[in-house]
This record gives sequence, structure tokens and C-alpha cells, in this order.
Amino acid sequence: MTDILILGGGPAAWSAAITLKNRNLDSTVITTGMEQSGLYKADKITNYPGFPEISGKELLEKFREHALSMGVEVRNGYARQVMPTGSGFMVLVGDEILECRALILALGAARPRLLPGESELLGQGVSWCGTCDGMFYRGKDVAVLSSWHGGVEEADFLAGLCRKVDYYALKKHDGLTECRENQSVIPETPLSIARENGRMVLTTREGTHTYDGIFVFRPTAAPDQLIPGLAIENGFIVVDRRMQTSVPLCYACGDCVGRPLQIAKAVGEGLVAAISCSEDLK
Ligand SMILES: Cc1cc2nc3c(=O)[nH]c(=O)nc-3n(C[C@H](O)[C@H](O)[C@H](O)COP(=O)(O)OP(=O)(O)OC[C@H]3O[C@@H](n4cnc5c(N)ncnc54)[C@H](O)[C@@H]3O)c2cc1C
Repeated sequence: MTDILILGGGPAAWSAAITLKNRNLDSTVITTGMEQSGLYKADKITNYPGFPEISGKELLEKFREHALSMGVEVRNGYARQVMPTGSGFMVLVGDEILECRALILALGAARPRLLPGESELLGQGVSWCGTCDGMFYRGKDVAVLSSWHGGVEEADFLAGLCRKVDYYALKKHDGLTECRENQSVIPETPLSIARENGRMVLTTREGTHTYDGIFVFRPTAAPDQLIPGLAIENGFIVVDRRMQTSVPLCYACGDCVGRPLQIAKAVGEGLVAAISCSEDLK
């Protein structure tokens, strides 16, 4: 049980963690890694005060180092599901369940572009969680569609359960290189998912393949898929001026709450979310 979990790893998350530390509150930042922040790709930032010219990667490193130097805890992983418990939250990170009293969402604005058929067949042959659903496919044939290295770990986990695991990269990343006996990398581009005669049909640019199940792994999810009951408007999490969301003791900040999508705004909102959170926890 931690007091506060911060989901994210960009400017908003680090700012919230630093402000909480200043107020003597411990938090743990759950992050898929710096490379997944939009900022990591920015060559040159010229509008963040105090740094007339700096790359996005350098600025992220500075935020992270600052937080770590204050003793902020960091866990690498993807938060795939949040369940409010009444007295706090349970957060599924990888194959672990973490508990906290309050939650700060700093998820950024990246939203996954789902494959046709993917959300319609979720729970009916399509899964976003190997740990949760892998056992349903024990001894069966599955496909893993992944856009990041997190999918490699999942493919490895599934290879321990399933008869056959075919790995498809949804985009270029450090994908599966060393295959177990029952794993193969299929160099084809997934286009859509369908269900025919009880089997899952994956159509790629190159052809079609059938499986018992299809697992899809990405480093981002739409926020309302993460937390049931979270109010969303035009794709952004709804918050008040204190960065409080529609879910009690759950705050949100940065790009995930709306425009302008800028570093200074993300940092400011991270601070407001942290202050509101610390006031409400008291
Ligand atoms: C190419 C480019 C150039 C830019 N240039 C500028 C500029 O010059 N000036 C400026 O002010 N802004 C610029 N921006 C915008 C700036 O990068 C964003 O406004 C800022 O990074 C937002 O911070 P954030 O913390 O809200 O989100 P992000 O920085 O996007 O961080 C969100 C993090 O949360 C992680 N995450 C998401 N879901 C989960 C989950 N379920 N579990 C764990 N982690 C998760 C993501 O992987 C990511 O690491 C630029 C953006 C881009 C893409």
C-alpha cells in the first residue's frame, strides 16, 4: 500500500512527485519509460523558462533526476487497469496489483489507434492482458500484436502457457529477437481482427492467419478504458480547477486533461494536482 501512485512519466508526473515530496508525502511514479513521452522526440525546446534551448530528452532527464534526488520512487511498467475500492485504488501494473489511497493521472495525450474489430472483440478472443487472460489459452495458438518492448515480456509469459505464440510488430520497436521453440516472429503488418466459426482471424497486409486468441499490447490506453466511470470530454479527462476528476481522490494533469499541450502547463497542473491531493488526503 502506497499513499499516492502517479501514472505517467512526463513533465506533469515529475512535477507532481516533486511537489508531493516538498509536502512530505511519498509517491511512486509508474511509467512506461521516458521514450514513450511525446517530449522525448522534441529536438529543441525554446519556450520552457530557465532553459533557453534544450532537447526534450535532456529536459526529461533533468525532471527525472530532480525527482530521484529527492527520493521519489519509480517503477517501470504499464498501468493497465485501475479499480476504485471505496477506500483507495487497486492498480494492475504488469502482473502485480499495487494499492494506493490516491491517484494522479499524468498519462499524456497519446491515444492508441485500435485495429478494426479490436474493441468489438475484446473479451471474445481479443485480450489486452496476458496475465489476466493467458490461462484461457493454455495449450492453444495465439498471436501477440505489440507496439513496444512490454509486448515481448508478455509474449514470453504466454509462451509458457500456449502451444504456439506468433509475434507481430505493430510498429518498429525493440521486438522479439530470441524466440523460444514455440514462438515465431511474423514479419507482416496487422490490418484487422475478425471472428469466424469460433476462431480469431487476423488479416495482415500479406494474408490471413487464424488463432484461438489475439493479444494486443501498447504503452497507452484511452483513460476511460483504464478507470471505470472516469468522465471524458472530447477525448480528454474532465477536471475542475483543482485537477480533481469525476472519481474521488483521483486527479489528472498535463496533456491528458486538454490543450494547450505544452510543458509549462503540464508542470503547473502537476503541481496543482499534488497540492489538491495532499490537502484531500489530510
Ligand atoms: C515532437 C514534439 C515537440 C514538442 N515541442 C514542445 C515545445 O517546444 N514546447 C512545449 O511546451 N511542448 C512541446 N511539446 C509538447 C510536450 O511534449 C507535452 O505537452 C508534454 O510532454 C506533456 O507532458 P505530460 O506529462 O502531460 O505527458 P507526456 O510527456 O506525454 O508523458 C506521459 C507519459 O505517461 C506514460 N503513460 C501513459 N499511459 C500510461 C500507463 N497506463 N501506465 C504508465 N505510464 C503511462 C506515457 O508512456 C508517457 O511516458 C512537444 C511534443 C512533441 C511530440
